[in-house]
Amino acid sequence: MRFSALRILKEGLTGNAGWGPHWRSPEPKREYDVIIIGGGGHGLSTAYYLAKNHGITNVAVLERGYLGGGNVGRNTTIVRANYFLEGNSQFYSHSLKLWEGLEQDLNYNVMLSQRGQLMLCHSDGQRDAYARRGNAIVNQGDDAELWSAEKVREEIPYLDFDNTRFPIYGGLMQRRAGSARHDAVAWGYARGASDRGVDLIQQCEVTGIDIENGRVTGVQTTRGPIRAGKVAQVVAGRSSQVAAMAGMRLPIESTVLQAFVTEGLKPCIDHVISFGMGHFYISQSDKGGLVFGGDIDFYASYAQRGNLPMKEHVMEAAMTLMPVIGKARVLRSWGGIMDMTPDGSPIIDHSGIEGYYINAGWCYGGFKAVPGSGYALAHLMATGQPHDSAAAFRLDRFRTGRGLMDEEGTGAQHNLH
Ligand SMILES: Cc1cc2nc3c(=O)[nH]c(=O)nc-3n(C[C@H](O)[C@H](O)[C@H](O)COP(=O)(O)OP(=O)(O)OC[C@H]3O[C@@H](n4cnc5c(N)ncnc54)[C@H](O)[C@@H]3O)c2cc1C
Repeated sequence: MRFSALRILKEGLTGNAGWGPHWRSPEPKREYDVIIIGGGGHGLSTAYYLAKNHGITNVAVLERGYLGGGNVGRNTTIVRANYFLEGNSQFYSHSLKLWEGLEQDLNYNVMLSQRGQLMLCHSDGQRDAYARRGNAIVNQGDDAELWSAEKVREEIPYLDFDNTRFPIYGGLMQRRAGSARHDAVAWGYARGASDRGVDLIQQCEVTGIDIENGRVTGVQTTRGPIRAGKVAQVVAGRSSQVAAMAGMRLPIESTVLQAFVTEGLKPCIDHVISFGMGHFYISQSDKGGLVFGGDIDFYASYAQRGNLPMKEHVMEAAMTLMPVIGKARVLRSWGGIMDMTPDGSPIIDHSGIEGYYINAGWCYGGFKAVPGSGYALAHLMATGQPHDSAAAFRLDRFRTGRGLMDEEGTGAQHNLH
């Protein structure tokens, strides 16, 4: 089933009776070539690129809940490629390029909205750092503009520019950054993978990893054992728990990140705005809600819901940056579990157990990585070699200390990344 303007018109005129399910729901087979544990954005995109780029279609994605019910459906949908450090920068650059062709590739409207993201700066030193970062981004072929305080004031007049603690000195704008509809991304990849023969198995929790003589042979699930020569764990906030089933201890701490949305308002925020000093960022959804968030909760937890002190902290930061937001009413808040690595950068690597792969540690930034991550993991699983864009995301950097990518410069403390 292809989506097109003509098809939508035809369905509209004939009572929308011709739409079928987006993906098949088969019973699990006893054996596959590849099993992907986790039906979030990364797991689904990995399955899609295995099938599309490498012709590997005897694949099952095992999801313990429903597709897209994890963090891929809980995030604030920001997509950008303005990372600074070698290792990260080329990965996110590649991922953004994939985003830009994604709707045509998937034949699915993921509502990519390149409305621009502005990172505000609040001191001379921070402005210098942003100038350097912007130059590095431009040098690798991506876009960045250094905005003066006057330019920010012209474009976003409702911010508090003269706050005595955090006066606005300017900002770094990436115009190709923006947001996308998170559920649609999961659904689009699911549909694309299913159409290519991948089995998407929902309500199927992996409860054990079968390993014989140092190589993976399959998994135990709530729907019975399933054999496979290659298995990848792509479970976002549950990476440590699933890795433990394979006898591994990952350098990860899991923490809740909250987000908030207000009632729908008329269009008033054109860009994504990040206020790093106050730990606050905001954009406006297509429905009109102001979508915003801030820091992670500062303790390890699998609770998947937020706490009140962090809510207060985020609201205070919001009021500091844009006092006018005090007039909006918060409609709801929610939380998701973030797997934080010590350097704030992810892992896409072979585990050391033959045939077992790890995609983990996306901290609070893995939505923008969905296309690039699946692309790179599929490449690694199919060829045995890391994809150029993700070659730095090695697991052993936490053991050897070589190749750490501490983007935030906050050192080896999980909850500061
Ligand atoms: C509030 C919030 C805001 C965020 N904002 C942004 C943002 O603006 N931009 C950005 O880039 N990133 C953002 N993120 C981060 C981003 O959402 C995540 O990094 C990313 O979605 C994680 O990858 P995923 O989509 O594969 O995860 P998930 O969707 O969580 O997928 C993992 C899946 O694995 C399944 N699973 C777990 N254990 C098992 C098991 N044993 N067996 C079978 N299945 C299992 C889970 O049920 C889940 O569906 C945010 C996250 C949150 C919570």
